[in-house]
Amino acid sequence: MLIIDKNNLTASVEEIVNSVKVFDIHTHLYPESFKDLFLYGFDELVTYHYLIAEALRVKEIPYTDFFALSKKEKADFIYDTLFVERTPISESCIGVLTTLNELGLDINCRELDVFREHSKNYSRKEYIDLIFEKANIKKVVMTNDPFDDDEYNFWKNNVELDEHFNSSLRLDYLLNDFRSARYLLIKMGYNVTTSLIGLTKNEIKRFLVDWIKKTKSIYMAVSLPPDFTLPENSTRSILIEDCILEVSYEMNVPFAMMIGVKRQTNPELSIAGDSLGKANIETIEYLCKKYNRNKFMVTMLSRENQHELTVLARKYRNLFIFGCWWFLNNPTLIKEITTIRIELLGLSFMPQHSDARVLDQLIYKWKHSRRIIADVLIEKYGKLLNLGWVLTYEKIQEDVERLFGKNFDDFLLMEL
Ligand SMILES: [Zn+2]
Repeated sequence: MLIIDKNNLTASVEEIVNSVKVFDIHTHLYPESFKDLFLYGFDELVTYHYLIAEALRVKEIPYTDFFALSKKEKADFIYDTLFVERTPISESCIGVLTTLNELGLDINCRELDVFREHSKNYSRKEYIDLIFEKANIKKVVMTNDPFDDDEYNFWKNNVELDEHFNSSLRLDYLLNDFRSARYLLIKMGYNVTTSLIGLTKNEIKRFLVDWIKKTKSIYMAVSLPPDFTLPENSTRSILIEDCILEVSYEMNVPFAMMIGVKRQTNPELSIAGDSLGKANIETIEYLCKKYNRNKFMVTMLSRENQHELTVLARKYRNLFIFGCWWFLNNPTLIKEITTIRIELLGLSFMPQHSDARVLDQLIYKWKHSRRIIADVLIEKYGKLLNLGWVLTYEKIQEDVERLFGKNFDDFLLMEL
């Protein structure tokens, strides 16, 4: 048993946080069996939508001209704009450089073909192994959307699954555009009418059960706008309260709500055009209280919601809060939010998920977050040492394992 003191605290926490294997509970990644949905390599890394928004902000070309370019041309354009003409100082830009660095590439060579060729030295399977090893990842959760044509076909043809990729059933289309989703449900063989009467509700529940089983989903998920409200008289509320929560409870598959995204604030920016807004915390309070035997996972996009969400998690053990989502995935905010959560909840939450769309991003997202989470822990453990509390290396290891995965495993197993 190694006793921690002021002299070995920093090095010990850094070593433990860097060596823990992560369970990344929300990503948009796929294994190689999903063919073109599996995104990796330099061009994908540089054409990430975070970087599209940053490049088009400073380069006056018509949006349509940019989106008409090929993937490689888009990557050239973004690299020239953000990495050559300017200093790549934003979090997304530094993320690209961290990733290239960790892959052993010389970031100053500026030969894009050298960067491009790198991933081609590996088979897709080998590349996944390489990135998982570099990022020190145990497993990730995919975002699986049966309403997406391409993805639907893979599932229909019994796509091969990979044990390192868990599934989650994404329900955005069903909950945010039921009129269109209805036609797809009918096409999939479910007898769904426009009015949400008993038969239609049963068919939707049958769809949820079938697809949770087919995809082996460990939770259901939806992203929701800032004005998401419950209870209310709407199709979405009926679908959630009468269909999703029933199935969620019966199958012990939590319902994850990612709240606060304002879709297409600037439609001309396409995938990079979404923004955010502060949401209504009472909605979550209503759900946790009324459905107290249901499990809810929540992450919110607005900084202004973070404190009240953390306080609410103190009141309801069926509420699992996770990650610093999307526009919050920046060092300053990760530090602030993780500190607030530790101060109010101790270790009973999940500080981060990567939200990665491109495999290679796992490297920088986790390297950057590990650094910040380690700093927050070092400060708090330092306070305990000042008080004379005896800390051991093993105990810190246990704490860190909770934060990077075990808390979520426990939440899935918890009996309510
Ligand atoms: Zn996401």
